[in-house]
Amino acid sequence: MKYYSLNNRDIVVSFKEAALQGLAPDKGLYFPTEIPQLPKAFFENIGSLSKEEIGYQVIKPFVGNEINEADLRQIVKETLDFDFPLVQIEKNKYALELFHGPTLAFKDVGARFMARCFQKLARDNAKKVTVLVATSGDTGGAVAHGFYGVEGVEVVILYPKGKVSSIQEKQLTTLGKNIKAIEVNGSFDDCQAMVKRAFLDDDLKGAHLTSANSINVARWLPQMFYYFLMYRELGKIDKPLVVSVPSGNFGNICAGMLARALGLPIAHFIAATNANDTVVRYMDTAIYQPTTTKVTLSNAMDVSDPSNFVRILALFGNENKALHAILDAYSFTDQQTLEAIKDIYYAKDYLVDPHGAVGYLGLKQYEEKKTEFIGVFLETAHPVKFPECIEQLLNIDIEIPKRLQEIQKGVKKAIEISDYKELKRFLLD
Ligand SMILES: *Cc1c(COP(=O)(O)O)cnc(C)c1O
Repeated sequence: MKYYSLNNRDIVVSFKEAALQGLAPDKGLYFPTEIPQLPKAFFENIGSLSKEEIGYQVIKPFVGNEINEADLRQIVKETLDFDFPLVQIEKNKYALELFHGPTLAFKDVGARFMARCFQKLARDNAKKVTVLVATSGDTGGAVAHGFYGVEGVEVVILYPKGKVSSIQEKQLTTLGKNIKAIEVNGSFDDCQAMVKRAFLDDDLKGAHLTSANSINVARWLPQMFYYFLMYRELGKIDKPLVVSVPSGNFGNICAGMLARALGLPIAHFIAATNANDTVVRYMDTAIYQPTTTKVTLSNAMDVSDPSNFVRILALFGNENKALHAILDAYSFTDQQTLEAIKDIYYAKDYLVDPHGAVGYLGLKQYEEKKTEFIGVFLETAHPVKFPECIEQLLNIDIEIPKRLQEIQKGVKKAIEISDYKELKRFLLD
């Protein structure tokens, strides 16, 4: 498989180059030159396939022989080494729990896959690679955990000061070793803008920077895995399948749409966002106009200029009509989010985190338009990651899993910066 830059079709690279570069030299996101089709038999027999086999079959065409079969199978196995339960919430509605990995958010899947690929791919590189990543909350922890101790790779994580939860902050600032945290006086979009600028800065060419955000194909593509696992878990269904994805940078939903393009029978997607509604407005007006980022309870989705949206447009050949046929986008307020958490807790006896609540609200809103469907929303983080919000709201104590208790004892280590110049100075040192 080759990948081209969405800014220039003539820039074509291998999986290895795309992964190690992160962003194309012209700032474009890499996109597969062709969309492989999985055979019919794969879907007919999916119930009898292991999750490792499913993951391998899905990712194989995208990696080609740049990682040998035994290594790739091992990478997939380690990536998916936890559970992905599908929990029924009400009639025809399910939560797909993606938070059973080491940092309790779905980003573990992409980060683990990417880190393990880098272990193989960066090995033959004489130079050290520096992974530079901006986080709105969960990416930092997942990437830090995934890359911790990986030889030949330094990790630098930028996060917006005071805008991630205390557990999220601990997860990305306490590990040490090859993991460095930078606290930015600004928003996630500011962090992301600095990262993008660093990639294009000629003075930093020697630092061999790459990205571990979902703009990196090695982090974006493996997110397809759990859409297939969801399909396997559902078994035979007699209604169209609708998936609601709480979205911020739109990497997760875009992976789902790619899975659909490979043949996975998902009838419709819902992009559920918080007050950061750039895509919702785009779907209504065909005008893409990011605004300043708003701080919300679902902080990992506080993104107003989602990087991956261009990939979604590319998947649909920039045809808005084709896009509208399979995507609805809705925005919800914090107030609605809190009410949903309460409602699901008291009426359905299920605890969701603020991101999952937004996903659930997406299904509910879609229901006003269509009733006959099987709905799944992605529960993207463990509720315990947001104790400030949930314990107060529901007046309950959430039991903190052991691995988080350990992290809370760690000591925060971060460097504070306010502008790009300071980041640059840090990277040059
Ligand atoms: C990152 C994140 C999201 C948003 O995912 P995107 O791929 O950026 O759209 C949603 N929920 C949680 C918990 C996250 O960490």
